[in-house]
Amino acid sequence: MPELPEVHTIATRLQTELRDARVSSLRVLRDDVIHHGGRELAACAVGRTIASIDRRGKRLAIRLSPHGVVVIHLGMSGRLTLDPWDAPLLSHTHVCIRCEGREDELRFRDPRRFGGIWYYEDPETDPFSCAEGDGERDLAPLGPDALDIGLPRFREILRRRRQVKALLLDQHAISGLGNIYCDEALYRAGIHPGTPACRLSDAQVRKLAAAIRSTLKSAIAFGGSTLREYRNADGQAGTFQKLHRVYGREGERCGRCGRTIARSIVAGRSTHTCPGCQKRRVRR
Ligand SMILES: [Zn+2]
Repeated sequence: MPELPEVHTIATRLQTELRDARVSSLRVLRDDVIHHGGRELAACAVGRTIASIDRRGKRLAIRLSPHGVVVIHLGMSGRLTLDPWDAPLLSHTHVCIRCEGREDELRFRDPRRFGGIWYYEDPETDPFSCAEGDGERDLAPLGPDALDIGLPRFREILRRRRQVKALLLDQHAISGLGNIYCDEALYRAGIHPGTPACRLSDAQVRKLAAAIRSTLKSAIAFGGSTLREYRNADGQAGTFQKLHRVYGREGERCGRCGRTIARSIVAGRSTHTCPGCQKRRVRR
């Protein structure tokens, strides 16, 4: 699943390419991928200008001028790519947006359809957290972004008793982290993912905050991680998976202490840890 660095990579590229472009056509090939405002989007988008493309957590927003916001979530297998407008459509392409004077078009493709599109013509609140959808697929409110969150807020979130990994995965608490970057950041901070968050010392909380930020920043610098499906807006894979230290490396040796990387289940998710570097130490 694309996480913060992958969505960030796509948003940055699309912002460079499409900012100030005027929408000349919008084709919806499968309307049930649009969970809010589908009719308005089809009626209003053409002729509007793309004011900006930004991101919060794993969600991306295309802001139109004079108004309208398209929020996109890539789910498990979603892709947003700029393809030549006359290139054959791949199967599971659901929405295509063309802009004036461009040889390409933006295509949203999502074979497994865990992702989707939400359109708000005139959002009264933060469009990333409008919380309105078709009922079944509401856009749930998002917590602060994992790349921007300050230490005081982070510390406050970690006062809870839940396992630290469960908390980091909870998009309502802090947004942007998924299984890969949780495991990588917890390893870099030397914290066992099953530790109750409220038991972490202040030094550990600081270390974790720094590890999350540095892991996400390096992942962005390497264009994100591609394990199976992720591709950037130009259809290329990321390369940060080569720098994963624990994720997907069970059975290999830890680069720091030489112990064997283990895989277990924490917070209901497959979890990678080094038994030497991430001991379940509990502060008394
Ligand atoms: Zn180790």
